Amino acid sequence: MDVDSKAEELASALGIDKQEVKSDLEALLEFDVPLDEAAQSVRRKHGGSSGGSSTPETLAVDEITTEHGTVNVTVRVLTQGTRTIRYQGDDQTIREGKLADESGTISYTAWQDFGFEAGDSLVVGNAGVREWDGHPELNLGQSTTVSMADKTVDVDGPVGGDSDLIDLAPGDRGRNLEVRIQEVDSRTIDGRDGETTILSGVLADETARLPFTDWNPHPDIDEGASFRIEDVYVREYRGSPSVNLSEFSTVSPLAEPVSVADSAPRLSIGEAVDNGGLFDVEIVGNVIEVRDGSGLIERCPDCGRVIQNGQCRTHGEVEGEDDLRIKAIVDDGTASVTAIIGTELTEGIYGGDIAAAKEAAREAMDKEVVADTIREKLVGGAYRVRGSLSVDEYGANLNVDEFEPASDDPAERATAVLAEVRQ
Ligand SMILES: [Zn+2]
Repeated sequence: MDVDSKAEELASALGIDKQEVKSDLEALLEFDVPLDEAAQSVRRKHGGSSGGSSTPETLAVDEITTEHGTVNVTVRVLTQGTRTIRYQGDDQTIREGKLADESGTISYTAWQDFGFEAGDSLVVGNAGVREWDGHPELNLGQSTTVSMADKTVDVDGPVGGDSDLIDLAPGDRGRNLEVRIQEVDSRTIDGRDGETTILSGVLADETARLPFTDWNPHPDIDEGASFRIEDVYVREYRGSPSVNLSEFSTVSPLAEPVSVADSAPRLSIGEAVDNGGLFDVEIVGNVIEVRDGSGLIERCPDCGRVIQNGQCRTHGEVEGEDDLRIKAIVDDGTASVTAIIGTELTEGIYGGDIAAAKEAAREAMDKEVVADTIREKLVGGAYRVRGSLSVDEYGANLNVDEFEPASDDPAERATAVLAEVRQ
């Protein structure tokens, strides 16, 4: 960087006249002071502008603590995501992601476009340090200077944001994915600017399946199609990561379909519950109870919730619609979950459809016979259960996608299936 552009950068960072900065710099350069050092002296002379009178220290990333006001770092940009936030009534475009050097990684927010990209090596001067969730983060604002480093900064780990779904965590920004859209629905929501249409669904790659939301629907997104999606951010939804697309996300169709995971990670129920929720998980355990509210039930035609005595809690007296479902408590010794099994799987377990269940209830003059039949079949048995786990103050619920007798031994499994057939 030459004197002129350094002077310009400093002048805008310090909010003073460029000519004044330039003559200060030139005076120092006459004494063979290196340009960067000269710039620091000029910055000190003019007191910076955000950090008060203290001079920012030049630190390695792992030396930065929430006690520091401002710092200088030399770093590689690992990721960069773009997002609009509403700040004091105005929409502002910010960039955020992770920076790293050999010592560690730190999150950043850039409040203006400094023109750098993921992969760039930067000298960042006078970055503000703020605390987020107990950790330091860097704020790059008006008084921050950013210039290209002379050589590439060595870092541990991947640069650029390309990620497998299994590696995503809430808080990630500027990630790039290659995925297949497995489900997609459009919905209208009440957004901050009134009614707006969004897309939500499920996407998958070879490593995992995750829910996604596209807040600014990209017209290409369609069930079954495979895409490279750049610049997504990750939030937590019911304890599991969810992928978010914004107006800044780019969606490009892939010629080759992305192959997707056909199995879910298998965890103990204790591990899964401790995780706080998982979008797609497999557990194995014993059904220890089939809860009330299983078997033949009635749902509100408006909201789909289960109703009691023809009364919906939201919609009052309604004409209920018959359905079959099971709420089974599954325990593996580490913890238990309530497995919620929908119509189709319940029909398979019960051995009959809704009409057959109604017929049985009519004959017995008691709906409960359907749940009793299910109890006889399930309680005491070991099952492999796959689904989406959510954990809240009411407990752990697993919305079941797959439910079958557990056996890792094919011979044992065959015996179990035969026993099932002979019944
Ligand atoms: Zn209702």
